[in-house]
Amino acid sequence: MSPDTPRSDGKMIGMPASPGIVIGPVHLLLWEVPDVPQRIIADEKIESEIARFHDALTTAKGRLAQVKARAERHAGPEEAAIFDVQVQILSDGELISSVEKFIRRNIGAEKAFDLVLIESRQNFARHAQPMIRERVGDLTDIHIRVLSILLGLPDHDPVDLPKGSNAILVTHDLTPSLTVQLDRDAIAAIATDEGTRTSHVAILARSLGLPAVVGLRDATRRVSGGDEIILDGSSGALIPRPTAVQIASYTLRAAREEADTVELQQLVGAEPVTLDGVRITLRANVDLPEEAEAAAHSGAEGVGLMRTEFLVVGRAAMPDEEEQYRAYRRVVEAFEGKPVVIRTFDVGGDKLPVGGFPHEANPFLGWRAIRMCLDEPEIFKTQLRALLRAAMHGDVRIMLPLVVSVEEVRQARHLLEEAAAELDDRGVDYRHGLPLGVMIETPAAVIVADTLVKDVAFFSIGTNDLVQYTLAVDRGNANLASRFTPLHPAVLRLIRRTVEVGNDNGLEVSVCGEMASQPLMAFALIGLGVRQLSVAGRSVPLVKRIVRGVSAEVAIDAANAALGAQTAREAEGVLRRHLFTAFGDAQFLRDGLPEYVDGNTFEGFGGP
Ligand code: PEP
Ligand code: MG
Repeated sequence: MSPDTPRSDGKMIGMPASPGIVIGPVHLLLWEVPDVPQRIIADEKIESEIARFHDALTTAKGRLAQVKARAERHAGPEEAAIFDVQVQILSDGELISSVEKFIRRNIGAEKAFDLVLIESRQNFARHAQPMIRERVGDLTDIHIRVLSILLGLPDHDPVDLPKGSNAILVTHDLTPSLTVQLDRDAIAAIATDEGTRTSHVAILARSLGLPAVVGLRDATRRVSGGDEIILDGSSGALIPRPTAVQIASYTLRAAREEADTVELQQLVGAEPVTLDGVRITLRANVDLPEEAEAAAHSGAEGVGLMRTEFLVVGRAAMPDEEEQYRAYRRVVEAFEGKPVVIRTFDVGGDKLPVGGFPHEANPFLGWRAIRMCLDEPEIFKTQLRALLRAAMHGDVRIMLPLVVSVEEVRQARHLLEEAAAELDDRGVDYRHGLPLGVMIETPAAVIVADTLVKDVAFFSIGTNDLVQYTLAVDRGNANLASRFTPLHPAVLRLIRRTVEVGNDNGLEVSVCGEMASQPLMAFALIGLGVRQLSVAGRSVPLVKRIVRGVSAEVAIDAANAALGAQTAREAEGVLRRHLFTAFGDAQFLRDGLPEYVDGNTFEGFGGP
């Protein structure tokens, strides 16, 4: 059985994406284009059918006004602006007359609308201009919304749930337009059919502190709205209609996890130093500026990765310099002079603006991250100017994503100089000489790391992408989740090589991918010689517990043995054996790893 095989008792196992146990009612959100039956209407019904179509448009606009107001409350006015575009499309004269023409040919309103939208979406997707292609997502939203009204289907938009509903959102995938509507006071956890631990829905859930299970494949078909359900974000379990015994057992586990969290809080002020005195620097990953203050109180010694895609993903327009400056400054000030590594836009792959950017057959191998920034110098320089200005308020370091060659670094540096000159011309204050580092996220970057050292100030290993590109395993594909193995010997060797090149050339090497926050893997990274880890703010105390509970010498022995393993599973067994002396068979060592349906047994597990 694979980890995602349905169980006979109804329990489902997906990927544990964000820890925490929630017992609550399902809020089912189905946001897919429904099937539309063919319906022929009589001549005398044509006018009333056209009127019905116009009523549906009016209802849809009303809904959009509500949705926009909700998004404004939960995410802010800039994010909510995406819904204005949809209202404009609903009023488009050409679209309306095309639908009317079909109705006049005796086709029912829903089929007429369906045919027109299918064609428009195809035309938009093929359009030469990226701005037009980006609108496909809006058309899809409209397609679903108007058809649902015409077909009298239940409204699956995230309705205004009362605060404190403690609802578990079950949906196919969390799209940007859904994310901006999410009411964190009503939704207590997320479960999705799609996604993996490193897909951005998972990362976002961890940032928001919402327990989440992803990659459940067909959860939306196996639960009903209002069902009571248990979600365990640590093991990846989803249990619909639980028995009293299951509820009692998970309530107990939830209380234990709660107590553990309180205990971990005691570590906030403690130094991250191993038993044999090796100092590890622990920094926080910040995905949204609103997280900055909490992350700063987690005991993190700065920010190892600030993702900036929140400024773009799910938005209809690129943010201006002022908006970016304010966002970066907020994070920099929260960390009061500690280093804040801000990554330039890593747009593309599964981090997309509204409607796609642009539509590509292989987005993960496509026009993304540094490639897009270098090709769009005005977008990139706007960001660089905002970063240079924000650096007046603290220790900002700039990091480039998805670099594969030193040329990209040199081009980026050239644009950085141009951005600085533009600020000079405007007479605006900024900080000179910001450190410029790179993410090591591709096998190419590791192999040519020695050619980068003279041009960069630091390396930060992005293991989410490094695993994806090394093993050729899509990080967001639920069907491949069990093959996404950061402990694969190829990945371990690439990390070791990066550390060696960094050490030989006096460059700091950190790890900011999700691997750093999984206890067993953090232990492996320390053993591989990594001395800086950057993890979600909430994971800082957990990783500190690992650091303080092990000796670097044991970690080095364990990592050497893991490097010699033939498979990821064997490496995992080796690491567990070495950690056993320190932590025994503690549950938290498994958190973030998939629950193996065959009893969670690993080769070699169970003691030294
Ligand atoms: C990574 O790839 O490991 C990383 C930290 O970047 P992201 O997850 O944003 O792609
Ligand atoms: Mg990455």
